[in-house]
Amino acid sequence: MIAIRNLKKSFGSNQVLTDINLDVDKGEVVCVIGPSGSGKSTMLRCINTLETPTGGSIVVDGMDMMDLDLDIDAARTRIGMVFQSFNLFGHLTVRENLTIAQTKVLGRSKAEANTVAEANLAKVGLSEKIDAKPSSLSGGQQQRVAIARALSMDPDVMLFDEPTSALDPETVGDVLQVMRNLAEAGMTMVVVTHEMEFARQVADRVLFMDGGYVVESGPAREVIGNPQEQRTKDFLARVL
Ligand code: ATP
Ligand code: MG
Repeated sequence: MIAIRNLKKSFGSNQVLTDINLDVDKGEVVCVIGPSGSGKSTMLRCINTLETPTGGSIVVDGMDMMDLDLDIDAARTRIGMVFQSFNLFGHLTVRENLTIAQTKVLGRSKAEANTVAEANLAKVGLSEKIDAKPSSLSGGQQQRVAIARALSMDPDVMLFDEPTSALDPETVGDVLQVMRNLAEAGMTMVVVTHEMEFARQVADRVLFMDGGYVVESGPAREVIGNPQEQRTKDFLARVL
C-alpha cells in the first residue's frame, strides 16, 4: 500500500531525512517513534507531498507520489491525515466540517455526503454533536471529529501525526480507542506517537527514528520490548 525507497529530504543544507525505507501493507498499522526533531513529521508529510522530497521514491496504492503528472489533489483525497492540532473549520458545524470536502472535492450530493458524515460520526461516538460548533467540544472530541472528517473521504490510508499530544489526559483514551477500532477494522495506518502502550498493543510494526535515519524497525514487541540498538534503548528509557 505504501512503498518508500531511499527517501531523502533537506531543508537548505539541513538533511532531515536520510535514506528512509518503509513498506506498509494493506491493513497494516505502523507506529513511528523517536525523539523531537528526528524527522517523523517530515516523513509523514512527504507521504502525501505536503513536503517535497529531495530524493528517493514514494508509491502509495500504485500512485507514484513524485510523478509530476500525478493529479496530486486526487491522490491526496485517498490519504487521510490527522494532525496534532485538529484543524477543524471553526466557523462551520461538525456536519459541515464532515461534508464540505465530500461535496466540493469528491462531487457527492449533499444527501450522500450527509449519510457518510453521519456514519463516520457514529464510528467515533459523536452522533449527538453533529450540529455543534467545534469550539463547544473538548479537544478529544474535536480530534475525533477530525478523524471522522478524514474518514468521510474514504481514504485508503490514514496518517496520524501525534494525534493525542495536544490533548488533556482524560480525553486521550477515547481518541486512542477510535484509532484502535479503525485498526481492527483493517485500515492501513501510519501513526507517529509517543503512546508506547498503544504502539505495543496496536502496531504491527514499530519504526524508531533518530537524526533522520530509521535506526531500528520490527514487530512492536521486539522494538519496544527488546530493542537492539543503543539509541533505541536510550529513547525508550526516557519515555517508558
Ligand atoms: P517532533 O517530535 O518535535 O514533532 P519530528 O520528529 O516530527 O519532531 P520534524 O518536525 O520532522 O521532527 O523535524 C525534523 C527536522 O527538520 C528538525 O530539525 C526541524 O527543524 C526541521 N524542519 C522541519 N520542517 C522544516 C521546515 N519547513 N523548514 C526548515 N526546517 C524544517
Ligand atoms: Mg513532529
